[in-house]
Amino acid sequence: MHSHATINYPEYIWPAGKSCAVVFSLDLDAESPFLWMSRGQEIKHLGEIEQRRFGPRQGLARVARLFEEYDIKGSFYVPGVVAETYPALLPFLVEGGHEVAHHGYFHERIEAIAPAQAEEYLVRAQELFHVQTGLKGLGHRAPSWEMTAEFLNVLQRHGVLYDSSLMGFDHPYEVEGLIELPVQWTVDDALYFRYTNSARDKTHPANPAAVLESWIEEFEGMRECGGLFMVTIHDWISGRAQRIRMLRKLIEHIRRCPDVWWARADELAAWHGNSINSKRFLVPAHSIDTHF
Ligand SMILES: [Zn+2]
Repeated sequence: MHSHATINYPEYIWPAGKSCAVVFSLDLDAESPFLWMSRGQEIKHLGEIEQRRFGPRQGLARVARLFEEYDIKGSFYVPGVVAETYPALLPFLVEGGHEVAHHGYFHERIEAIAPAQAEEYLVRAQELFHVQTGLKGLGHRAPSWEMTAEFLNVLQRHGVLYDSSLMGFDHPYEVEGLIELPVQWTVDDALYFRYTNSARDKTHPANPAAVLESWIEEFEGMRECGGLFMVTIHDWISGRAQRIRMLRKLIEHIRRCPDVWWARADELAAWHGNSINSKRFLVPAHSIDTHF
């Protein structure tokens, strides 16, 4: 048994008339993960970097147009280096009514670097976002969805509104005192469509019709269970034509359901903190015991 071995939690209470929430989130990685993984090496091959640069060049605009057509305000997680490389990006998103939030500086994995370094990158990203948008106190999503208890504390110390990297519940909760808006591998486009012809690829790109069916099934499940349907897509992956068509079909399906609360992640976090659910799903992050 660990220090927080509760197995019975109450149901999550959504605003009146709503049985679940839907957030469309986009991790705007562009070329940043490739550059981080290749750090210290000379890069001569153009394949993957060009494929990823399709994201900011074309993919993002296509997703933004789709969102605009359906009046969807999305949550966009942007590494500092991407905002720095494409300075028009954050102002464009804010202008469109979307949320912009942090996603590392170089798309670094939190647990793989020194804690002081992780903190320095967060501060640097916050300063850059403030210069480019005038905004402070934004949300955060960790690159590759990896996190440490220590970094959850760092986020709070630096005024971060919420984190969205973990999946300990399927609705909003608090971990180490910070609001957590859970993600889900099942509804992450990278799992199905990420393909760069490299050793990291697990399979060839999936048939979007099958993925659409799976995602609708998960959405309907979240309606039944009263959870958060947090879709995660990427500029360079879901900006491709057939995936835009798939997303349109998904959006049209969800739009037919009046009991859905469409929200940006920051709206959801602000609401959660003042709702009856606040502190009902509070867990510590430090009770990791391997028993051997
Ligand atoms: Zn990412």
